[in-house]
Amino acid sequence: MTAPPKEDPKPHNFLRAIIERDLQASGQAQRLWGGGPGDAAHHAAGAPDPAKIRTRFPPEPNGYLHVGHAKSICLNFGFAEDYDGICHLRFDDTNPEKEEQEFVDGIIEMVRWLGFEWDVGGTSHLYFASNYFDFMYRAAEALISAGLAYVDEQSAEQMRANRGDFTTPGTDSPFRTRSVADNLARFREMRDGRHADGAMVLRAKIDMASPNINLRDPAIYRIKHAHHHNTGDRWCIYPMYAYAHPIEDALERITHSFCTLEFEDQRPWYDWLLERLVDLGLLSHPLPKQYEFGRLNLTSVMTSKRKLKAMVDEGIVQGWDDPRMPTLVGMRRRGYTPESIRKMAADTGASKTNIWIDYSVLDIALRDDLEGKAARAMAVLDPLPLKLTNWAEVFGSEGHREPCHAPAHPQRPELGERRFELGPRLWIERDDFAETPPKGYFRLFPGNKVRLKYGVIVECTGCEKDANGRVSAVLAKVLPDTKSGTPGADAVKVKGTITWVAAHDAVAAEVRLFERLFATDQPEAEGRDFRDNLNPGSKTVVQGWLEPSLADVPADTRLQFERHGYFVADRHDHGGAQRVFNRITTLKDGQRKG
Ligand code: ATP
Ligand code: MG
Repeated sequence: MTAPPKEDPKPHNFLRAIIERDLQASGQAQRLWGGGPGDAAHHAAGAPDPAKIRTRFPPEPNGYLHVGHAKSICLNFGFAEDYDGICHLRFDDTNPEKEEQEFVDGIIEMVRWLGFEWDVGGTSHLYFASNYFDFMYRAAEALISAGLAYVDEQSAEQMRANRGDFTTPGTDSPFRTRSVADNLARFREMRDGRHADGAMVLRAKIDMASPNINLRDPAIYRIKHAHHHNTGDRWCIYPMYAYAHPIEDALERITHSFCTLEFEDQRPWYDWLLERLVDLGLLSHPLPKQYEFGRLNLTSVMTSKRKLKAMVDEGIVQGWDDPRMPTLVGMRRRGYTPESIRKMAADTGASKTNIWIDYSVLDIALRDDLEGKAARAMAVLDPLPLKLTNWAEVFGSEGHREPCHAPAHPQRPELGERRFELGPRLWIERDDFAETPPKGYFRLFPGNKVRLKYGVIVECTGCEKDANGRVSAVLAKVLPDTKSGTPGADAVKVKGTITWVAAHDAVAAEVRLFERLFATDQPEAEGRDFRDNLNPGSKTVVQGWLEPSLADVPADTRLQFERHGYFVADRHDHGGAQRVFNRITTLKDGQRKG
């Protein structure tokens, strides 16, 4: 096992180099575009493509998008933006599944959330592979007629056995030599529902001895009596992914088809198929080209739909949008900004191998973004009462409230001011008091003076304890004429400043403190089960008190709780009996203590 890189890896963007090379070559200039996806004749009747390049993001609508998908979205849409091109959002829905519409809607929502658009000049480039089923069927018949495909009736086990392996060539199927007429008749029977699932498949006739197993007569169509979210019950045969995908790219005139490394061995099949369909007059040059890049792996993050689903099903997390999940719905709820995800994707470039990116790359992008955007607020997350015992003496009455104000953002005066009041009863952080202070501790301890941030200076006089000897309140005296912003503010020098909220107007809140889901950087390294590497402290729920300005901030508002980190008003629990905030991330080390 190699350790994940600790420093930012240099973005080695070989994909950009490929695009730039192609833009300089003449081939792409002659590309005609028929105004929408279509076959050779359709595009031949079109005009030169106004898009310099065409890319696509091709999700299968069978689940929720995760941060790995975000990498692919940012690459494909980003290249289109950078090179005066167009990126298509294409659903690779060639596999009939239940409830796909829900996933289609969810994926559309999250690509938009990331900030990308497929409506260009009034034309929507949102496509569905299932809308190409007629063409795919026509292409299959053309291949059969040209002697390039056959219906194989071997059982699945026979087919597997006859495929051979890396050291053994495959064995020809006994059905490989049947006549074109026989193949066409059989294929139409498949289409017409005359055979059961699995009874036979249509295969390309290439080379059973090819060193590339993907070229050993790959399957093209299989029988599946299943309802499809878009085409309903119209079809009972469905194209295989590796057959459908190149055709989708070609119909849409994609110039650069970027995919992850596991598809590298499929590329010869991709090219073989498209070249044959050009020969048969169904498609035309220039054809799309497939290029592979390394998957994004983030340390201590698992990106596999199947395993994320297991975490949901086993109750390890509370749903797909649990704020600890690396799904985009989870990250949105956690408070990640789309800009920070896009920045992470840009900073990590594109690589020719599957590399591990340290999670801090995302965290740094997130903090950089939030630092300038998030309004500040005070919050007490481990509350301990502070009683100001000489309040009435200094301010005339116990009921007096002393108005205080603070900038919403220290560098952005245009965001205005927060207003709140100081009173005789406050909440402070439990660790801002120490009966016997450790060395270098400048906060509250008997005899020490601190500033209540944006308020007055107080001097600690002692504490109260409960029956168990635990500190139950801190006692202090106000030093008169020391309020922030008044002429006497600097008359007394103090080394510590602490945050607080007043008991009389504080807003109660449930605050969820999240840590990484996994205890180790690579939860599945060396064949380990991710379940054995869960971080038991990934979620802590505390009852806190917030400054009154937070009583009715809208859901999804991101804030910095001073000295604590960045928090977001939870979008689901918004409007409940109590406000709920999620910690997005902590502050940088060193920014934490007052
Ligand atoms: P999973 O393995 O989680 O099921 P998938 O690859 O099967 O993901 P698709 O919907 O087929 O999911 O993927 C859509 C696109 O996103 C594909 O082009 C795929 O290569 C890309 N993609 C998926 N995961 C990553 C990743 N970790 N890094 C970069 N691209 C990814
Ligand atoms: Mg997939």
